[in-house]
Amino acid sequence: MSPADVPDLAINTATTRKQWRLDQAIEGYARAGISAIGPWREEIQEMGVQKAARQIRDAGLIVTGLCRAGMLTARGDAEFKAALDDNRRAIEEAHEFNATHVVIVAGGLPPGSKDLKAARDRVAEGLSSLRADAEAAGIRLALEPLNPIYGADRSVIVTLDQALDICEAVDVGGTTGLGVIVDTYHVWWDPNLSPALSRAAPKALGFHVNDWLSPQTDPLNDRGMIGDGAIDLPEFTKQVRKAGITLTPEVEIFSDRWWSEQPEVVVQTCIDRWRIIMAEANRDPDA
Ligand code: ZN
Repeated sequence: MSPADVPDLAINTATTRKQWRLDQAIEGYARAGISAIGPWREEIQEMGVQKAARQIRDAGLIVTGLCRAGMLTARGDAEFKAALDDNRRAIEEAHEFNATHVVIVAGGLPPGSKDLKAARDRVAEGLSSLRADAEAAGIRLALEPLNPIYGADRSVIVTLDQALDICEAVDVGGTTGLGVIVDTYHVWWDPNLSPALSRAAPKALGFHVNDWLSPQTDPLNDRGMIGDGAIDLPEFTKQVRKAGITLTPEVEIFSDRWWSEQPEVVVQTCIDRWRIIMAEANRDPDA
């Protein structure tokens, strides 16, 4: 099948990070007919920000967003300041790279702490501090709520509603660029998903797709290929559309199993599976 028949789909480079360097991923995704790419900061730093931006542009790919900054829950002032500095560097990199947003992961409980409220307050404080820098650079901060399995170590923000509450609290007047990422792995279980998606629509900056395997061997690196797990992805996609979110879906799979495959096979599997999911979602769009 020619690349012209490929559905509108982005791939996050985490999906092939063990097989391909960034330059190889750009080439491989473009060859397969992928529309957009979500790179990581380490990769663009290693390649050179300008060079990476140029190759992506020349390959005809769009950048979805830059992964990743955040980790804003430190208790100590020095650590918190170091985290803010790193986020400011990410904003500069995104600006230089012509990305529209930086993906923000909140951070888990600080070592030795059980105080979730304090950690969540720190995230809001951190985003408040970064707001002006992001605005000045024309970069949006995209807060990605993570599945509660990461509540202790990666993200004290676990639902879309909670992320949106923080955006609204920080975003006085709603005029600044804070937003959210919707990731199927992280929010599929949420009983309030449908209204949360509607609420998220004006602020949605990314739509990450992957699947929830049951059982899974590792909470971090055993995410499922789309279609292999428990998430009703056609139904999820319909709800996303119904909410008015029109973003290009971005496959983001951290998986030892898929990292051991030929990268071309991984990319083609993403495309083939997404085509099946779309066919199903389109079969009865108003149901
Ligand atoms: Zn994600």
